[in-house]
Amino acid sequence: MGKQIKVCWVPGHAGVEGNIRADELVKRAHTEGIARQQATALRTPLRILHAVHKTQINATAAVAALQRTTGGSFGRFTKRIDASYSSGHTKDLYNNLTAAQAAVLAQLRTGICRLNSYLYRISVTDTQDCECGLPETVPHFLFSCSRWIEQRREMREAHGEWWGNLSHAVGGRPAGMKGEGWRSMRTVVLATIAFARATGRLAPGGV
Ligand SMILES: [Zn+2]
Repeated sequence: MGKQIKVCWVPGHAGVEGNIRADELVKRAHTEGIARQQATALRTPLRILHAVHKTQINATAAVAALQRTTGGSFGRFTKRIDASYSSGHTKDLYNNLTAAQAAVLAQLRTGICRLNSYLYRISVTDTQDCECGLPETVPHFLFSCSRWIEQRREMREAHGEWWGNLSHAVGGRPAGMKGEGWRSMRTVVLATIAFARATGRLAPGGV
């Protein structure tokens, strides 16, 4: 298709052009009546979307597509991944990572990445399928794609009994796990990030 998407993590409020645009969109979302919590939830994926902005793909259309596919808000989407999303732990999770690690984690948590399920959704590719023939979603990439069996070994061990649970893999609280006393497990998250980086399939901080 010839389009290249660059996805990278950028610091907030540091004069980065795409991020300023993201902040404007967040403010607009806020004034247009979206609850404060949901507006805050928009920030992370929109920062990533500055890539979309930069590569001539219509950012507004991409945001609209995401909102459609996530049922109206990024917050709700992330909440599906992480039942403790609003508790503030997400900030701690990201703050304890390097920028490169955070960039990979953000892609896995939001689904905004160069896996074909997302690229197809924003009309960059003709198919959502992986080279192995199955839809290339985040769970497919992490847990089942036959292309990454070797890279997956250590992650599988680190994930233990929650293997196969996407929330757990990306440092979220699975819906079935009790909130009280729950802590995001750093070793699990680091293993997931290490796997993703080893495959070379996601943006290492940029595509
Ligand atoms: Zn595959």
